[in-house]
Amino acid sequence: MGAESTVTVYDVRSDGEIAKARLAADGIEAWLSIDDEGGLNPGFFARYGVRLIVRPEDLDDAYVSLGIERVSVPSQVADAMFKHSGWAFPEEACGLVAFDDRGAPKLTVCLTNSEHNSDRFTIAPAEHFGAMRLSEAHGLTIGAVFHSHPRSDAYPSSEDISGGADPEWLHFIVGPVAGAKPLLRAFRIEGGDVTEVKVTVLP
Ligand SMILES: [Zn+2]
Repeated sequence: MGAESTVTVYDVRSDGEIAKARLAADGIEAWLSIDDEGGLNPGFFARYGVRLIVRPEDLDDAYVSLGIERVSVPSQVADAMFKHSGWAFPEEACGLVAFDDRGAPKLTVCLTNSEHNSDRFTIAPAEHFGAMRLSEAHGLTIGAVFHSHPRSDAYPSSEDISGGADPEWLHFIVGPVAGAKPLLRAFRIEGGDVTEVKVTVLP
């Protein structure tokens, strides 16, 4: 196989197999690549990195076939999240992201984690309203919240899932600040269900 493109990464192999079968039904050839066998007991429910791979020319069709929502993040919007996460370390960083009327993220508003905690965050109401006013002044609307996970995977924690966040918002999570490039993932969290939204950071 030559060039390849990752569609998404699943936590368990069975989810990857289901997606692969769905793509095959739409005539798209796909492969699975296991990043990590998840420890000594692969039969146990473990967090795998099961990478679903297609040919680059099939990537757009694969997103449509699997119903995967995508968001393109301008580099300055992503960099602001990364820098704020580094600044707040070892506490969780947080903030809000404003979108234009076409649904594109345009502005990162970096805010204070009023809990000053490395495992959870709260945005103070006064800062929340300030961010809303700032966004409106730019003709934008708050459409996402971001926070960092300084020590854990960039996946919603049980508190993130049960935390009463706005289901209309996208939830960006910045992974541990280690290595050259921090990880940015996005999710919809609705009534206890987590759906990943594929992030592309634009150059
Ligand atoms: Zn979290």
